[in-house]
Amino acid sequence: GPALVWFRDDLRLSDNPALDAAARSGRAVIALYVLDQTSPGSRPLGGAARWWLHHSLRSLAADLDGIGIPLVLRQGSALDEMLDVADRSGAAAVFWNRRYRPAEIAVDKAVMAALRKAGCDVSSFQANLLFEPWTVLTGAGQPFRVFTPFWKAARARGIARTPLPAPRPVSRRTCAPRSNSLADWALLPTRPDWAKEIASVWTPGETAAQARVAAFVDERLATYARDRDRPARAATSRLSPHLRFGEISPLQIWHAAGLRHDSAGLEKFLSELGWREFSWHLSYHFGDLEKRSFNPKFDRFPWRTDDAAFRLWARGQTGYPIVDAGMRQLWRTGWMHNRVRMIAASFLCKDLLIDWRRGEDWFWDTLVDADPANNPAGWQWVAGSGADAAPYFRVFNPVLQGEKFDPDGHYVREWVPELADLSPRWIHRPWEAPQPELARAGVRLGETYPVPIVDHNAARRRALGAFEALG
Ligand code: FAD
Repeated sequence: GPALVWFRDDLRLSDNPALDAAARSGRAVIALYVLDQTSPGSRPLGGAARWWLHHSLRSLAADLDGIGIPLVLRQGSALDEMLDVADRSGAAAVFWNRRYRPAEIAVDKAVMAALRKAGCDVSSFQANLLFEPWTVLTGAGQPFRVFTPFWKAARARGIARTPLPAPRPVSRRTCAPRSNSLADWALLPTRPDWAKEIASVWTPGETAAQARVAAFVDERLATYARDRDRPARAATSRLSPHLRFGEISPLQIWHAAGLRHDSAGLEKFLSELGWREFSWHLSYHFGDLEKRSFNPKFDRFPWRTDDAAFRLWARGQTGYPIVDAGMRQLWRTGWMHNRVRMIAASFLCKDLLIDWRRGEDWFWDTLVDADPANNPAGWQWVAGSGADAAPYFRVFNPVLQGEKFDPDGHYVREWVPELADLSPRWIHRPWEAPQPELARAGVRLGETYPVPIVDHNAARRRALGAFEALG
């Protein structure tokens, strides 16, 4: 019988140990992807991620076809679909790369047991993390809750493996069982088609991911440490959606970056990959990061339900230019710069006192890189409820953050064009600008651009008061 490769968040041919093992088995190979929104604990993808997945699967199907492997698409419970495809194809062996959310591990265990019972060989591999979460533990054998010692312990383990090349074309072919058509899944938006600008900015797929890492290492790694906090500069790698869907592996990025070992940006960049590892470490050991505050004290927090304020935040109409620029960049392109993610998230949970989960959910729906571990971990870090989080009293001041990290206002000008003619002195605080300056720039506060929906200093005091009352 043929070998089956179950693709999940690893939509690539190169450095794919499961695919590599299947191709080496000498059997015909069938690839399978299951859109599973029904298994317990599965988190249905948001809109932007669905758009990405559509294009990524199309690209994967073409690449697999090039090496003689058909891709079967199924929708439903992973257990049912895996058993059905294994049964109909007469599969003798099944291969996949490991996942790390507790709910997904439970699914994989059930699938593994059922396949083995049906007589299939099942093998799973490490592919999507540099360090398996159960291998990096404190001296007392416990999971880490703080990043720096986690990363130190991980680095001390070293990385022995080098990335695998894509498999050569398989020599045996087989007829694949029934597949859904991608179009039937309706992953793309129809009316309105909000993805046009996203499509002009991003190219999903392994080929594009490889091109992006190469360009980043050549052109930007050297200045990464200096410029990574400047949202107006394209200083970061923008590999996040490619990594999210596994179009490239962290090991491939690690090796590509490591070729520039003399670069000042290297350690900083590797530690960002380390934050991704840390998020997944937390997700594996503590589970459900998107549901529960890591620090349970925060589940008693007196969050406000202010739907009007939430909507203004989501649409980039808060009256704080750096926040609005970020939220509009997100809405239009499916991505936001990390510095601005922190500022915008802090504004929601501290200035507006709205539950971080609502913000996390909005990001989940709108980010092309919406990641089951990084997104809730990022939100909890900002909210102060997370592991190794920013201390609660650290409330980002959106004016000072804007002036520090977007000093010329280029980022605000790009995303909030109604403020484009304000001088750098006023662009982050238009409500303080003298009337002639506003008139010159064509800004009428309350008409062309909102007045701030809260006063930051008052909001900050309110947030600190609410936190102190938690005891
Ligand atoms: P680079 O600076 O080039 O970093 C390279 C890679 O390292 C990234 O692609 C990413 O995989 C990883 N990385 C970088 N910074 C972080 C970080 N702080 N935490 C974890 N991993 C990191 N990242 C996501 O991938 N998906 C999310 O859904 C997500 N949600 C976030 C929500 C909030 C509120 C915050 C504050 C951060 C969030 N991040 C998320 C982390 C970070 O903002 C993005 O990974 C980063 O902006 C992606 O851009 P880049 O690829 O150019 O990053």
